Amino acid sequence: MKMADNMNIRYIDAHCHMEYRRLKNREELINRAIDNNVEMITSGESLGGCKRALDLKTKYPKDINVTMGYHPSRVKSDWKVIEDTYKFIEKNQDSIVAVGEIGLDSGITSQADLDKQEKIFRKYLTLAKELDMPVVIHARGFEDKAYKIIREITKNDIKIVYHCFSGSNQLARELIDNGNYISISTQLCFSEYHKNLIKELLGIYDMDLFNNTLSETDSPFVSPIRGEQNESSNVRLVVNEFGKIYNLVSDEKDNCNGINNINNKLDNKNNKNNNKNNYNDNNKNISCNGMGNQIINQDNNLINIAKLIYSQTKRLFNI
Ligand SMILES: [Zn+2]
Repeated sequence: MKMADNMNIRYIDAHCHMEYRRLKNREELINRAIDNNVEMITSGESLGGCKRALDLKTKYPKDINVTMGYHPSRVKSDWKVIEDTYKFIEKNQDSIVAVGEIGLDSGITSQADLDKQEKIFRKYLTLAKELDMPVVIHARGFEDKAYKIIREITKNDIKIVYHCFSGSNQLARELIDNGNYISISTQLCFSEYHKNLIKELLGIYDMDLFNNTLSETDSPFVSPIRGEQNESSNVRLVVNEFGKIYNLVSDEKDNCNGINNINNKLDNKNNKNNNKNNYNDNNKNISCNGMGNQIINQDNNLINIAKLIYSQTKRLFNI
């Protein structure tokens, strides 16, 4: 079976942190992504992070794009820093493709901090609306609450991306039906929750799901290999996983007869094109030929998924 890597497929890591201060081997990771046809959208989420992200875009203008926001876990910061980041984003609005990541995180426990977190979120959401830009949302544990606030402020006027989507099936459908996006990270490689979610959504939307689904690594976090630093080139694993799940769902949909009928038709076509001596051979090898066709279909599915995700991501962020 050919792998997607050999098919000239292009990928976009829709959310990563190449600007992360403690990232190890930054240049090496970026170059490995570029060598593997992976473009990156790096998300500054602090004042320093936004500045580093901008520097990376200057250095790799073709391969790195930038979003800027303020991470919900940075709730202990002085308002001065929060204001300065806000102003920095306003000033550099022409260099970014979205506002974010911003949002809510349930890791915060004190009520005062939760209130402050929501206040920061509302402030930056309003900025996104003013700039008329898509927003990258971080909403760990507060997926539904975040969407309530988003609808209240944006009135569904700007596009929303839930990065590292881990919400409910119902919320995913609501987002998609309203023209928004879920972004699935390398968590898909090891999380049964995410595999099931994609399986269920494919049952509803089929291939159309990938018109509203992005792929990301959130690197250096959520590595597919426990304990290792994640990197953007791993976004290919997310797309491969989409392909695997899609094929599984398709196989379940087609009953055995359906598949045999298709294979028989294809084999009969081959018979007509070949000389008659092949007739018996083809009959003998019917399951083998059928398998070959199935593999070609699986490869085509994977290519289609990758193309849909790539073009959608480009369109969404106007890259
Ligand atoms: Zn992130």
